[in-house]
Amino acid sequence: MELTYFGKKIVVFVLLLGGTTSAAWARFKIPPPCKNAFSTQQEETEGAKYAGEIFKQMPVLPDSSPISQYVQQVGKKLVAVTPGYRWPYNFHVVASDEINAFALPGGAMFVNVGAIRAAETESQLAGVMAHELSHVVMRHSTCNMTKQQSVGTWAALGQLGAAIALGNGALGSLASQGIGIATGLSFLRMSRDYEKQADLLGADILYDAGYDPRGLPQFFETIEAKYGQGGAQIFSDHPNPGNRMEYVNAEIASLPRKSNPTVTTAAFTRARDLASKEKTYTSKEMEAGAWKKSGKYALVAGGPATVIPETTGSSQTQNQTQAAGAARLNRASLGIDDPLVFYNGQAFSISYPKSWRKGEGQNGSVAFVPQDGASQAGIAYGAIVEGARFQAPVKNANDLQQATTAIARQMSQQNDGMTVSGNMQSTTVNGRPAATVELRGRSPLSSGGTATPERDLLVAISRPDGAVNYIIFVSPEPDYATLKPLFARMMGSFRVR
Ligand code: ZN
Repeated sequence: MELTYFGKKIVVFVLLLGGTTSAAWARFKIPPPCKNAFSTQQEETEGAKYAGEIFKQMPVLPDSSPISQYVQQVGKKLVAVTPGYRWPYNFHVVASDEINAFALPGGAMFVNVGAIRAAETESQLAGVMAHELSHVVMRHSTCNMTKQQSVGTWAALGQLGAAIALGNGALGSLASQGIGIATGLSFLRMSRDYEKQADLLGADILYDAGYDPRGLPQFFETIEAKYGQGGAQIFSDHPNPGNRMEYVNAEIASLPRKSNPTVTTAAFTRARDLASKEKTYTSKEMEAGAWKKSGKYALVAGGPATVIPETTGSSQTQNQTQAAGAARLNRASLGIDDPLVFYNGQAFSISYPKSWRKGEGQNGSVAFVPQDGASQAGIAYGAIVEGARFQAPVKNANDLQQATTAIARQMSQQNDGMTVSGNMQSTTVNGRPAATVELRGRSPLSSGGTATPERDLLVAISRPDGAVNYIIFVSPEPDYATLKPLFARMMGSFRVR
């Protein structure tokens, strides 16, 4: 028995030796693709839109910055050996002091200045980038979206889309919070399984690019040792699956040894020096948005540094309201006496005041906003129509109440300070069962440095196909009573298709 056993062992050993001639034998194998609701084309299109939002809401260094150029060079080396679908990878640097890097679905990667400062070597910086690339290769973000199927994700997508269509970069307290801090997006939050996969594939990419693959676990270890799990933003989206160093080292041990892997470079030292001098912003400062007026940051991917233009208001109101965004509107500007015009969308139709602007988003979401009713800070006045589909179809009044509660909860979670403030009421909208509930929050408007209170009316209408359409009517509290009859008329005109 023992001899046979021994014999088998020898056979195995010989096979292993034979295998070392092919570099691929012990590598991490990319698991079969997840069930993904997005086509690669959709992922590219949606991802590019998200990336566009980041440029509006975060100070991104222009491509002319030597720090950006350095990160792009490292990115290029990694992309050259990255397996899988050829996503349109692109690399950018955010003037944030947080230790973080994130990659959006579709291949746009943002590395914070804070992460460059925190890395000790080029292989560490390249390590965290290779880890992020691996999430893109395995489509973990869209896998997460597909799995979550939550109101939040789809709602956030829709709001974002509408924000883009409106061209002002933010939809009220609604979307700006969700994307404003990009890491708050739930689909970027990785499971421990996905983390481990990204570590292992990341180490292989690092190795193939000629780097010392130990840079990857080292980066995470160093950050964790210095700042703890809770001390660095990167761990909120990329939790330590446990034993990171051990399993990555085991992966590395399975790769044929290279004689002179790159640990660090003079270019890294230069870039890190520049990063240490670069002006950075805290999350709060990024949201406050004063950086937008500096003219130093890029407005779009590949663009030069550009002053982001104010999108609302006459120059007079701009001067009065600077960072706060739009000012309170007078009765004429609210458009409440306007004739209504008809909007005929794919999933619904609705009437809205003639002077209002319309913004069509992704997934059929549409926003209707008075002239000057929105600014960079968000939508202060208007109506946003969204669609949501739940895991189980909405069939009766009870389902609809649950769905409405879920939507309201999601709104509260995505908007700091927003709470449900009234009882839910059942009603009908053009014969369809509906439920309404009021929420209170903080308007993007402010006076004397204090946010004006906001009142929102959420109306959820069940669709014959089991999905739900919902309308969020947004108003600063002092104007709510004035707008309420208009909101009621708009709601009365709403028809699902
Ligand atoms: Zn990760």
